[in-house]
Amino acid sequence: MVDYTEEGSPLRMIGTHTDISKRKFQEQQDKEHLNQLAHVTRLGLMGEMATGIAHEVTQPLTATVNYASALKILAAVDEPDLAKITKVANSVSEQALRAGKIIHRMRAFCQKQSANMTSIDINTLIKDCILLCNSDLKKHNITLNLELAEALPRLFIDAIQIEQVLINLIRNSSEALTANDNPAPKTITLSSLMLDEQNLQIQVRDNGPGIETELQNKLFMPFVTTKTEGMGMGLSICRSLIVAHKGTLSFDSLPELGTCFYITLPVIASQEYIS
Ligand code: ADP
Repeated sequence: MVDYTEEGSPLRMIGTHTDISKRKFQEQQDKEHLNQLAHVTRLGLMGEMATGIAHEVTQPLTATVNYASALKILAAVDEPDLAKITKVANSVSEQALRAGKIIHRMRAFCQKQSANMTSIDINTLIKDCILLCNSDLKKHNITLNLELAEALPRLFIDAIQIEQVLINLIRNSSEALTANDNPAPKTITLSSLMLDEQNLQIQVRDNGPGIETELQNKLFMPFVTTKTEGMGMGLSICRSLIVAHKGTLSFDSLPELGTCFYITLPVIASQEYIS
């Protein structure tokens, strides 16, 4: 508050100071705690998916060996067909690159890191997640549909944390579909879209058994699980990670018809986020 003299010059100023260093320290601790928790659960997720991913890497490696054998045969003739050889050689590098990409994604996913905010194309991130989940989905006969909007703005996010949320939701859908007796074809649909000018949304939809109304009310609470081997931490951490990105995680579920999770993230300039 400022008082002035009759002439209008400043006379006195009264104010208060609040030391916010304690609060800032607590916020920093909370962030680090969430990062650590996220890392531990990420390692758990990777452990569950490891066998499937190993299988997914074996396929391109086997294809590489087969193409290399074909190359030897094609090159051993008197007049080698160079066009054919080039085509097979291209297939060798394509397959090797695919195997390398899966291993790279797996390594990045397991790394311990503090929050690393970068500008990300969300559709590329969704496709990267599929690289890691694919084999699990194939194994359980689940068809994956993609409905990705074009020309979406880039998001300023921690890619590994958002990948973790997506993979967690995809795995939950996959487990719900696998446990379901319904003989209808099992599908998961991943969509990306602009909700409005400021918010981008990713949806993970399944046609599984849905979630019972009573469970819906406490779904994001820690240690809530219906699985014999479940920890019940997945959704609680997913929500904290999305909230740390200034977004929201919600869902709709209809018993017998399926469940849809909505990740909504703000489209904000990097500078705005940092401040
Ligand atoms: P966990 O997977 O260890 O059980 P989560 O927090 O990820 O922990 O999930 C909590 C519970 O929410 C699950 O046990 C399951 O009952 C329910 N759930 C989550 N996603 C779905 C889904 N897509 N369909 C049906 N149930 C779901």
